Amino acid sequence: MAGALVSGPELPPVEIVEVAPRDGLQNQDTLVPTATKIELIRRAVAAGARRIEATSFVHPERVPQMADADAVMASVPRVDGVRYLGLVLNRRGAERAVTAGVDEINAVVVASDTFGKRNQGVGSAESIEAWHDIAAVAHCANIPASITVAVAFGCPFEGEVPAARVAEIIRRAADAGPAEIALADTIGVGVPTQVAELARAAATTAPDIPLRFHFHNTRNTGYANAVAAVQAGVTTLDASIGGIGGCPFAPTATGNIATEDLVYTLDRMRVHTGIDLSAVTSAGTWIAERLGIDPSALLDRVGPFPLRRPPASGGEHVTAEAVSPPQAPIGQLVRRGLRCCSSYGTAVPVGKSPCSR
Ligand code: MG
Repeated sequence: MAGALVSGPELPPVEIVEVAPRDGLQNQDTLVPTATKIELIRRAVAAGARRIEATSFVHPERVPQMADADAVMASVPRVDGVRYLGLVLNRRGAERAVTAGVDEINAVVVASDTFGKRNQGVGSAESIEAWHDIAAVAHCANIPASITVAVAFGCPFEGEVPAARVAEIIRRAADAGPAEIALADTIGVGVPTQVAELARAAATTAPDIPLRFHFHNTRNTGYANAVAAVQAGVTTLDASIGGIGGCPFAPTATGNIATEDLVYTLDRMRVHTGIDLSAVTSAGTWIAERLGIDPSALLDRVGPFPLRRPPASGGEHVTAEAVSPPQAPIGQLVRRGLRCCSSYGTAVPVGKSPCSR
């Protein structure tokens, strides 16, 4: 936990569920090769991720990027302690996921009818019915099954989603015994007070079921929301390497919160995640290069803090280069609107460098 600085009440460890291979990639315009997905998963595992949403078992015509779900699951690195989640929307998807060898199933129920019909072709009530079918499949296969409540913080079509509606969805879904309940700010409209309100609602409605949150940073509230969740006692958060992601059925939704930026924040709050910041930042830079996009993860652009520069003379030291993410070629930095600050070995926005004068 290098760089931990902030003192305060001891907070419990936080488990980060890495969602880049599924949620991060599903919205990419061009099809990502299966081998690239596997390498992303391998890098996530190497960085310390132990729960990874590897793929989704949905109709390939709806989400072509996930058409290789079975091939992905056939090639994921099997490492002790690493569990792979498969996202499903119905019984058929759950059966495919079980056959493909997922360790956990994550089902999506929706908090608004309009979003549900666009996202998965059913309204809120039908999505809960589908969850009961999914839970039955998982139970027979002896696989844990969780739910994610989509658009729990607000719907791009219907607007505000009252906490009471989310609580009612949790109550009805809890009948089928989810191993975990995730509340998703699918379009990134939530704020920290809303996180606290929904955490209270979930704890009141289903006090024995662990809670997880899923945030997007569409309006720059994603990390504040993550901190609010941790301070509310939540110990599991979703995040995506590089901050990649979006939702094909939610216009204007941008990336998930970035794993590296979340790890940086939690590291310095003295909250253990088990994720190596340098390794996950490298993974973010790598996948952004493969996708030809600018990573929304700011750690990928500016590197960690504190930077450790060589001492004036003598003694052992760690150079800035040793703790910074791998550098992209200068031409790629310029293309991204970044320049290299040679004193620190990090990429910074053009015109914003402390040494640009
Ligand atoms: Mg997402």
